[in-house]
Amino acid sequence: MTSIEVQSPATGEVIAQVPDLGADEVRALVERARQVQPGWERLGFDGRARLMLRAQKWLLDHRERVIETIVAETGKTYEDAQIAEVAYGAHAFGFWAKQAPRYLADEKVSSAQLFVKGKKLLVRWRPLGVIGVIGPWNYPLTNSFGDCIPALMAGNAVILKPSEVTPLTSMLMAECLRECGFPEGVYQVATGRGETGRALVDLVDMVMFTGSTATGRKIAVQAAERLIPCALELGGKDPMIVLRDADLERAANAAVYYSMQNSGQTCISIERAYVEAPVYDEFVAKVTAKVAALRQGPGGVPGTADVGAMTFPPQLELIEEQLADAVAKGATVIAGGHRREGAGLFFEPTVLVDVDHTMDAMTQETFGPTLPIMKVADEEEAIRLANDSIYGLGGSVFTKDLDHGEAVARRIHSGAVCVNDAMVNYTALELPMGGAKQSGLGARHGAGGIRKFCEAQTIVVSRNFPKRDLHMFPNTAANTRRIGKLLQLLHGRGKRR
Ligand code: NAD
Repeated sequence: MTSIEVQSPATGEVIAQVPDLGADEVRALVERARQVQPGWERLGFDGRARLMLRAQKWLLDHRERVIETIVAETGKTYEDAQIAEVAYGAHAFGFWAKQAPRYLADEKVSSAQLFVKGKKLLVRWRPLGVIGVIGPWNYPLTNSFGDCIPALMAGNAVILKPSEVTPLTSMLMAECLRECGFPEGVYQVATGRGETGRALVDLVDMVMFTGSTATGRKIAVQAAERLIPCALELGGKDPMIVLRDADLERAANAAVYYSMQNSGQTCISIERAYVEAPVYDEFVAKVTAKVAALRQGPGGVPGTADVGAMTFPPQLELIEEQLADAVAKGATVIAGGHRREGAGLFFEPTVLVDVDHTMDAMTQETFGPTLPIMKVADEEEAIRLANDSIYGLGGSVFTKDLDHGEAVARRIHSGAVCVNDAMVNYTALELPMGGAKQSGLGARHGAGGIRKFCEAQTIVVSRNFPKRDLHMFPNTAANTRRIGKLLQLLHGRGKRR
């Protein structure tokens, strides 16, 4: 079996080797998962929740080790790993342990339909079996392992194919679940590249994919061929709109934090800003001053860096290409603009102005510590440009008029919009989080975020047994009259409407 080298993006050192699993090894993992899944399902919500709460405690007890692993393989800062990964994971264990029984409870349904009068009608949620979770490199705990929690709580066995760039956190979570007493085989990690992911999609009962839109499209085609469900959390180009009455200090703080945290490698990063002309200069000045104060470097020691490394080497070239394209078309770089010399994959926090939609930096996902800011004449232009995108993941609007902010939010075509904030919707697991347009299919979190790992089964129980049922041969004139009356009644109702 070949192996894959894992490098630390902050230092360039090789920190581990992991196996590159082929199709046969993936098949063996899926067979193992199929053997153990029925027992895991039979354990019930209470049994599974008990283990989840143990895992929550393990994660908190071992948080320094988990942060160290995440920092080592991603190059992000201690704080980025703490706030957006460990805090998320710890909350998610408790949330799904508590909410799964509620979201997946049998639903009693009542119906006005005469044909089912007196019968018991219910919908129940049955786990699909073996779920394949395929994840990206930007959040190895939150975006890869995070989806395994509801999939497991629903009673499925899970195989996680983490990114080949950042597999170590997923493997550490296997250790966590083993130590907490999860049955062997209900959570397995399939390390490898895209081919390993392809092999997994060929065998599982459902795919939960997080990654680029290009790969998401391939997964959707493969899932369609097998007629299995897939949920896709894909790329974004989230717009920020700053209206003339905004609190500019808050807007500038949000612009800098949400475009630069995690080195801009977050699907719901602020990727572009539209600012109404009267406040544009002041906003740009505030943003530039705040960006100039950012500390960049290996961020393993708490409180020492604001912006860490890029995780994936090709991202540096992509940022350089987008900047060159923008500058060639008239943009001005007013902060940063270069990769840093020396060890590690660092790109300076960068601010661009004089931008427009002819430039890739305004229309293609960047996934780096860059913020292009565009002056707009008015709100209408801002909304039009915000929606001028193939993506529709998140977005934000800044204004002191809260009702108006909400009205603008409703006009932005994306899965989520925050008013006077950004990204925080992701932390509330009660809220569905998914992409519109080419940013995805389906959503994580909320009831839908666990029901997607199940199939709905409808059960109808007839409790009384009349000698003559409407659905019974022979067809009699009396039956025909009864159904005729019913149709007449519906016809009359239709006319009254
Ligand atoms: P990617 O699409 O290159 O890879 C994602 C995963 O898919 C990796 O594990 C990879 O090995 C695997 N893969 C590649 N080809 C495959 C194939 N043919 N079949 C099966 N699996 C295959 O994405 P990435 O570069 O790792 O991640 C960055 C992207 O993820 C960005 O576009 C970002 O916006 C997106 N993302 C989205 C969300 C969200 O919630 N919407 C969250 C995080 C990241």
